[in-house]
Amino acid sequence: MDVIELLPRLHLLRFPVGQAYLWRDGEELTLIDAGTIGAGPVIAEAVRALGRAPEDVRRIVLTHFHEDHVGGAGEFAALSGAEVLAHRLDAPFVRGEAPGPAPRLAEWELPIRAEVARHLPGGSPLPPPSVTEVTDGEVLGFGGGAQVVHVPGHTDGSIALHLPAEGVLFTGDTVAALPPEGVLSRGEPVPTDPVEHTLIPGVFNLDRPRLLDSVRRLADLGAEVACFGHGDPVLRGAAAELRRAAAM
Ligand SMILES: [Zn+2]
Ligand SMILES: [Zn+2]
Repeated sequence: MDVIELLPRLHLLRFPVGQAYLWRDGEELTLIDAGTIGAGPVIAEAVRALGRAPEDVRRIVLTHFHEDHVGGAGEFAALSGAEVLAHRLDAPFVRGEAPGPAPRLAEWELPIRAEVARHLPGGSPLPPPSVTEVTDGEVLGFGGGAQVVHVPGHTDGSIALHLPAEGVLFTGDTVAALPPEGVLSRGEPVPTDPVEHTLIPGVFNLDRPRLLDSVRRLADLGAEVACFGHGDPVLRGAAAELRRAAAM
């Protein structure tokens, strides 16, 4: 796993499939998504490498129930004591009470899906000890007040997190940047000048028309920085790029 500093308070954790983010408020950390199965101990190691203890992570906010985002949540919660939060519509699948609904794949998505599946570890995720349910408009206690934005479409209970005080938006899989594995790598400076990104509405959705409405809603938030479940973040002028993706 690569750990890349994006902003002084924000690190990107990149797994073989998908990404998570670590946000810091003083001594306290918040993890947004938790990687694939087996990621728990790897995240703990990354937290220690940043000079903090896993117990400093107070909460794990899950953008949706897919296994490349929740795979390590139960593992990391067990070793850190962090609270796990998810939207109420996705929470039952995070708890492992039922398998989540499969995406409705378009023909062109089938080969991409097969390629992703090749990189996912087998088995089923360790369910978190408990999951706190969140709803649209709720404000969470990190990043100066993180607003939960319900963005259904990718899954019914997909959420984004908007930190208006910081101009930062976590989109989950409602938006993706190409290439999905990203090009930023550890040890290289993160470009601060505008760079060419290709943002696309998320793939592997339950309901694409609803997803497109959600992308428009995210574009309207006017965020400067946008962080995705897959692909390199946009560190400047994110809202304009999101509007372009919304118009696709
Ligand atoms: Zn997903
Ligand atoms: Zn994903």
